[in-house]
Amino acid sequence: MCGITGYVGKNNAIDFLISGLEKLEYRGYDSAGICVTNGSALKLCKTEGRISVLKEKVFSFDVSGKTGIGHTRWATHGMPNHLNSHPHLSNDKKFAVVHNGIIENYSHIKRMLADRGFEFASETDTEIIPNLLQYYYNGDVFDAFAKTVECLEGSYALGVVSAHQPDTLFAVRKDSPLIVGLGDNENYLASDIPAILPLTQKIYILESGEFAIITKDDVKIVNSDKKIINKEIFKVTWNIDDAKKDGYDFYMLKEITEQPEAVMKTILPRIKNEKIDLSELLLDDEFLKKLERIHIVACGSAFHAAVMGKDYIEGISRTAVSAELASEFRYKNPIINKNDLVIIISQSGETSDTLAALRYAKGKGNKILSIVNVRGSSIARESDYVLYTHAGPEIAVATTKAYLTQLYVLMLFAIYLAELKDVILHEQYLCLINDMIQSASQIKKLLSKSDYLNSLAQKFIDVKDVFYIGRGVDNSLAMEGSLKLKEISYIHSESYAAGELKHGTISLIEDGTLVVALCTQKKLFGKMLSNIKEVKARGAYVIAIGTEDMNDLETEADNVIFIPKTNEYLAAALAVIPLQLFAYYISLHKGFDVDKPRNLAKSVTVE
Ligand code: GLU
Repeated sequence: MCGITGYVGKNNAIDFLISGLEKLEYRGYDSAGICVTNGSALKLCKTEGRISVLKEKVFSFDVSGKTGIGHTRWATHGMPNHLNSHPHLSNDKKFAVVHNGIIENYSHIKRMLADRGFEFASETDTEIIPNLLQYYYNGDVFDAFAKTVECLEGSYALGVVSAHQPDTLFAVRKDSPLIVGLGDNENYLASDIPAILPLTQKIYILESGEFAIITKDDVKIVNSDKKIINKEIFKVTWNIDDAKKDGYDFYMLKEITEQPEAVMKTILPRIKNEKIDLSELLLDDEFLKKLERIHIVACGSAFHAAVMGKDYIEGISRTAVSAELASEFRYKNPIINKNDLVIIISQSGETSDTLAALRYAKGKGNKILSIVNVRGSSIARESDYVLYTHAGPEIAVATTKAYLTQLYVLMLFAIYLAELKDVILHEQYLCLINDMIQSASQIKKLLSKSDYLNSLAQKFIDVKDVFYIGRGVDNSLAMEGSLKLKEISYIHSESYAAGELKHGTISLIEDGTLVVALCTQKKLFGKMLSNIKEVKARGAYVIAIGTEDMNDLETEADNVIFIPKTNEYLAAALAVIPLQLFAYYISLHKGFDVDKPRNLAKSVTVE
């Protein structure tokens, strides 16, 4: 969500400010801008819309300078327009600020500043910050910055430049992520690693409350009293090539296609001699053996993984699990006992609601295990134990490979726990492990149905409503399939537990309504067939997904996609692949920017 870049060094700042923002485009934004210091003047250029527009604007003005900040905005306060876009300037035009997050007490501060004669051009919460800097400035920029930050409540990653100290970049963060990249005679600021990766792999990951004072050849990380904090340099282990499109039209298709490798990278290092090895966790076996309840907390697709993970863990290890939406969790006074384990799931490891839920549970004294894709992210750092999904960088806003690898980590954990608790037969244990290892070839088999799903998608680009139905694990799969479609194709879709249809939703089924029926569960197949008949009887067009031995599906449904034979849990995981491809091709044929759906952001860092 929103991108921040900053540069100070030997070169013209614009080049990095813009190219860095381009690498952060995937995070979602609605306007963009930059500000550079040039002698004692601040030069500003911003625009509504895409970075390409900003680029044209920048090159037609003279905005050269060796220190600067850049921003892509995801509006929270005020319309996405030119005036509200960042950077924002102080009234005296001596300070410029870019901000990611929300200042919760901004209206109070705005009134205080207005009473003292300050004027505001935008509707944003951010504009109070450069003006507070001006208000507090008394000859020392850092001092004014520390005083300003002390007034702020809410979440923020801030980049600041000032005409009073034109060769220095200032930054601070609370909750919203921010990193400093270390170069040679130049240093960088960014809200995410891809922005700096082509230039350096050495970074500082700022923690909440840490300030950075950055010049061409020095980076100081300090607290609000300007006391030096000795931080370790973090070495990024992945490579910019991992985040390239490689000839695909969209990252989403590339990432769907990468799933066989992503799943194998996630599970194989954790399976040794036909045994699941989670020793990396350092979680006490005695604690796990006695574990009675788990709470899995997440948002969006990660929540759908949590709901499926609940079925995995309950079904395989017979341990009670609740799957909770992070945005609801801490506000509902949840019943959690000290000995319950809390599992947090997030691709980016920066999801604001999820991070807040983690802190809530930690405050209650619970052990926190997180399932995260991005190394060194806030959730990974603040958890007691981490199981990384090794999906590699995921750029498309709609998650695919991160979601699938989350399911496999949950599966590994479920089997591991079952063995510790001695509730699984050795034969079943080996079978489940073997099925996981077979997944790569099965995923590839499903990917080979891409052309078929493409032609199916073309038939449905004009549908208005789609219903995804399923039972058991297929119910959470339906949730994910439906979300995938609506987030990138803007078609209304809903998911229903198939048995619930007759309690209300069936009234919406009419001639031609598209129903996607998920039937990967053998034991529930008969019931699903009845549900398919019920919607067909009311005119629905049915696409069904079942396993290869479900021959009856072909006589009941209009189109059928078969999943290779595996166990009941993984069948539902594999079935997400045709759903991802179906959603992808619908969006593609509707002519949308598949990777950057409107109003959405990759890393959701506001509550
Ligand atoms: N709250 C700020 C605004 O609406 C920052 C939004 C962002 O994180 O991009 O301008």
